[in-house]
Amino acid sequence: NSSATLSLRLIPYSENLWLLVARDVTRLLQLEQMRRDFVANVSHELRTPLTVVHGYLDMLDPTEHPDWAPMLAEMQRQSQRMTQLVEDLLTLSRLESADHLAHEEVIAMPSMLNTLRREALALSQNRHEITVEDSAGVDLFGSNKELHSAFSNLVSNAIRYTPAGGHITIRLRNDRPERLNSGALAKKTGVVLEVADTGYGIPTAHLPRITERFYRVSNSRSRESGGTGLGLSIVKHVLNLHQARLDIASEVGRGSTFSCHFGADRVRPRESLDAFDVR
Ligand code: ADP
Repeated sequence: NSSATLSLRLIPYSENLWLLVARDVTRLLQLEQMRRDFVANVSHELRTPLTVVHGYLDMLDPTEHPDWAPMLAEMQRQSQRMTQLVEDLLTLSRLESADHLAHEEVIAMPSMLNTLRREALALSQNRHEITVEDSAGVDLFGSNKELHSAFSNLVSNAIRYTPAGGHITIRLRNDRPERLNSGALAKKTGVVLEVADTGYGIPTAHLPRITERFYRVSNSRSRESGGTGLGLSIVKHVLNLHQARLDIASEVGRGSTFSCHFGADRVRPRESLDAFDVR
C-alpha cells in the first residue's frame, strides 16, 4: 500500500500571507500502530500464564502453613493487580483502534445508576456516604458496556481517592443549553453524568495530563490505591467514541467532580418504567 498521510497546518504569516505547512506523518502513524499492536499482543500473551498462576495460588490453603499466610495473601493481591493491568491494557488498545462504536442501544439509566450505586457500596464498605441523584429523567444512546466501564472507573476512583467519612455523589442532570452561532439558545439540551467526591483533590497543574495513560498524581498514594493508571484514559476514549466531553473540576483537600457531557443527539426519552430506586 503506497498511500501517504499528510498533516496540513495553515499558519498566519503576515497581514495578507498565510503559510501552509505539510508534514508527511505516514511513518508516525505506522509506528503508533506498531506500538498499539505490540501492547495488545504482549497483553494477550500474558493472560494465560497469569490465569495459571492465579488458579494455583487460589488452591493453596493458608491454614496448612500459617506462617505462609501473609506471603500467599500478598502474592494473590499482586497477581490480581497484574490481571487487572492486562485487562485494562487490552481494553485500552481495543478502544484506541476503534473509530466507531460496534453496538449502540438505548441505555436504561435507572438501571445504570442502580448498578453504579451497588458497586460504590461494595467498594466503600460503609466508609463513605453515597448519594445518587437523577434530575434529568432521560436515557442515553450508546454502548452500555463501554459506558458502564467508564462510569465505574470514575466511581472507583472517587472511592479510592476519598478518605473514610467522605461523600460521593453520582448524578445525572440536564446540561446547560448550548449557545448557537445565531446567539440564541439551543432548544434541545444534552445530559451530564457526574461523579463528585469530597476527597484528596488533584492539583491544578496535573489536570491537563491526568487522562494520559499511566499518568498519576502521587505515585505512592495511587499505587496503594490499587489502580492501574489506565482508568481515566479508558474513560476519555469511551467518551470520545460517544462524541462526549470529560470536564474535571478539582480542589486539593476539598474534592473532585468528573463530568461527562453528552450532546442532545445522545439523549433519548426514558423508556423503562423501573422506578429509580432511591434509598
Ligand atoms: P489510577 O489507576 O492510578 O487511579 P486513573 O487513570 O484512574 O489511574 O487516574 C489517574 C490519576 O488521577 C490517579 O493516579 C490519581 O492520582 C488521580 N485521580 C483520579 N481520580 C481521582 C479522584 N477522584 N480524586 C483525586 N485524584 C484522582
